[in-house]
Amino acid sequence: MTDRCNFRCTYCMPFDHYDWIDKREILTYEEICRVVRLAVPLGVRKIRLTGGEPLLRRDLPDLVRQLSGIGGIEDIALTTNGSRLGEMAPALRSAGLKRINVSIDSLDPERFKRITKRGDLDEVLKGLFAARDAGLKPVKINAVIERGVNEDDILDLVAFGREHGFVIRFIEYMDVGTANAWRLERTVPKKEILERINARFPLEPAGREGGNAPAVDYAFRDGKGTVGIVASVTEPFCGTCSRGRLTADGRLVTCLFSRTGHDLKARLRSGAGDDEIRQWMEAVWSGRTDRFSAERLQAIRSPDGYDPEKHDKIEMITLGG
Ligand code: SAM
Ligand code: SF4
Repeated sequence: MTDRCNFRCTYCMPFDHYDWIDKREILTYEEICRVVRLAVPLGVRKIRLTGGEPLLRRDLPDLVRQLSGIGGIEDIALTTNGSRLGEMAPALRSAGLKRINVSIDSLDPERFKRITKRGDLDEVLKGLFAARDAGLKPVKINAVIERGVNEDDILDLVAFGREHGFVIRFIEYMDVGTANAWRLERTVPKKEILERINARFPLEPAGREGGNAPAVDYAFRDGKGTVGIVASVTEPFCGTCSRGRLTADGRLVTCLFSRTGHDLKARLRSGAGDDEIRQWMEAVWSGRTDRFSAERLQAIRSPDGYDPEKHDKIEMITLGG
């Protein structure tokens, strides 16, 4: 959507200054819709809009409306930091958005500000409730848990979600991009997150949505909803991953931890025909061999360990979560 963001989350894009992609290099809505139309015959059914902060992209509801009019697309979702959701939720809903993920890593206003560097928790919570009131369903909360930063927010977030009907998805802190200077010690493993929740709110396994979602779900035994955990570091799911990503500047990326990506925009702007582009996309996808998370876990367990600096990766802000 865009690589621009009004927050500077310490685990994603902490730099105060960042050279944003030149606007001319960003895919237009027309180009994005063309890619989606071409991807439908290849099996794409679900779209997630992310970033950067997608709500910073001008006239986003227009894109949602255009995407929801594409035959074969069954589901449109969006991941946002929520800062502009208060004003935009109704327009997004009426444009055809179905569900939404709002990122909230702490319910403590000061800690929230420390993590996001620029975020205002109050404003984001207003956005979260506005999404629910606008009829988006489900409204999920994404929370990245980082050692020494917000482990003690886990139970507060779970209690908040249960009280207000939001599904919480905890995400293991990952080494996406390089700006965050990730270290394995900062990742709180799924097992620990689960144990903390289970000790207070007993859980039972509920599997992965659709069999291949990134999150493994757990149901509260008292029937009050579910919680999900995305464990790409400690329990890689490369074998079932079916997510293709389109960067803001038009690269087709076959893995969240890719070094570069494949230049789709060059083809879109070279005058190539639909069949040619579709065949190219199919070839890129069927030629993929990515299993980065599985390889990382092997390296972590090896005597030499895993060195995140040895692997360049696209910044999360360009790629989207
Ligand atoms: N700006 C939007 C937001 O924050 O929701 C959308 C883009 S953000 C890159 C998408 C998701 O990735 C967010 O839920 C964010 O918390 C998560 N994320 C970013 N960096 C991460 C990291 N290093 N490890 C795990 N999750 C991360
Ligand atoms: Fe921006 Fe989202 Fe990254 Fe935070 S996680 S810096 S809100 S893109």
